[in-house]
Amino acid sequence: MMVHKVLVANRGEIAVRIIRSCKQLGIETVAVYSKADADALHVQLADEAICIGEVPAKSSYLHMENILSAAINTGAEAIHPGYGFLSENAKFAKLCEECGITFIAPSAQVIEKMGDKAEAKKLMKEAGVPLVPGSADEVTLSEGKSILKEIGLPVLIKASAGGGGRGMRVVRNADDFEKAFYAAKQEAKAAFGDDGVYIEKLIENPKHVEVQILADKYGNVVHLGERDCSIQRRNQKVVEEAPSTLPQQTRDAMYEAAVKAARHVGYENAGTVEFIVKDDEFFFIEMNTRIQVEHPISEMITDIDIVQEQIRIASGEKLSFTQDDVQFRGHAIEVRLNAEDPKHDFRPSPGRIEVLHIPQGLGIRFDTFLYTDYEIPPYYDSMVGKLIAHGKTRQEAIRKMRAALEELVIEGVGTNQMFLHMIMLQETFEQGDVDTSYIQANLKRLLHYET
Ligand code: ADP
Ligand code: ADP
Ligand code: MG
Repeated sequence: MMVHKVLVANRGEIAVRIIRSCKQLGIETVAVYSKADADALHVQLADEAICIGEVPAKSSYLHMENILSAAINTGAEAIHPGYGFLSENAKFAKLCEECGITFIAPSAQVIEKMGDKAEAKKLMKEAGVPLVPGSADEVTLSEGKSILKEIGLPVLIKASAGGGGRGMRVVRNADDFEKAFYAAKQEAKAAFGDDGVYIEKLIENPKHVEVQILADKYGNVVHLGERDCSIQRRNQKVVEEAPSTLPQQTRDAMYEAAVKAARHVGYENAGTVEFIVKDDEFFFIEMNTRIQVEHPISEMITDIDIVQEQIRIASGEKLSFTQDDVQFRGHAIEVRLNAEDPKHDFRPSPGRIEVLHIPQGLGIRFDTFLYTDYEIPPYYDSMVGKLIAHGKTRQEAIRKMRAALEELVIEGVGTNQMFLHMIMLQETFEQGDVDTSYIQANLKRLLHYET
């Protein structure tokens, strides 16, 4: 039986997007918000809204007791965590279980195993999924040094608890190892409260390609194809597309590895298996046990609402389709629209929305929480929306994205709209000639627009 009422433990565009899918399923919704978000769109769209605390995320969106109290007091049977915040928090998953509330995610056990990135790699090795060469586990300084000798420079020091591109350090010179090691540990401690780090061979200029998985409670696992998220800035995704331009054989092998990975850990609900790809060879880097920012492009090419599927799966329903039923149609691109100023080192640029015109058209989607006169609070993520374009071909999707970015009007705050448009105009992008170094390598050219 489907749940009747879902509490959405998040804010911003993802909270709005989850509420939308709940409504379409006839499910009641509860929004939660911090004191900075009383005017937020997700608060207005939900059937009920509960203030859960002060402005800092640790006092509100990360405050487990307050969120659970809100769920209990409103009679919500399930909690959808969105991405970020508590979405990959095994302790919160356990607390939900103890309170008899369905956490719309895999089990606490699976979150725990896959959330520790070093631990996850061990499991994936067992499953026979190809890994980036590196340490088998978290390392001490001296273990790190011997791994370095084994695999050779350059290496990447990564936080086991890492996420959002933070807690990583490149080492190209053995003399820099010790300093980078402690710097990574310190950053990891500050960002994630856990200073465990592991070592990977740095794969120079790879592509980032990930596979979307859906798994129900009865052992059925399907994939919804892959997304190429190579266009990144500081290891954070900026532009994503589906499908990738990799050869079919590589893509099929990645699907197989991703499904095998999910089965090996008894995965359930939606998840993403992330790989880096070099010369058509792919290596597992991590699994995200949550809905991802870029999930809409997979929805556009499969016509499957991933949030609705998450809720059905968590409610105990069987997947209503098999792998063969999943039909892939056309090509989709997403750009992340941030309130930031690319010309001043992408510094955040919050403020009041004075004018907003949202582009329209067949295959155009804009996931956002903006509305006219809304004041973007400066305390949280700078992402204010995701523009998505779907076309029959990659070329058509690019053209639609260009047109949509030309039509979009946001006045009152600075955004990266023109920067994204510049990416769409590049011949190299059009040729699919991109890897994770693309933005850094083309920065000057991409910033060459009139404001
Ligand atoms: P995706 O893989 O979905 O693209 P991102 O890495 O862009 O996700 O992260 C999505 C959001 O979640 C960002 O706001 C990011 O800062 C945040 N985030 C991701 N992982 C973590 C984490 N482990 N802890 C805290 N925040 C995280
Ligand atoms: P996060 O948890 O922050 O998302 P990931 O492990 O997914 O961290 O890595 C984020 C990005 O960092 C990847 O998309 C890729 O661009 C880069 N990266 C990660 N590991 C490697 C590696 N071994 N070699 C080269 N680049 C890497
Ligand atoms: Mg990642």
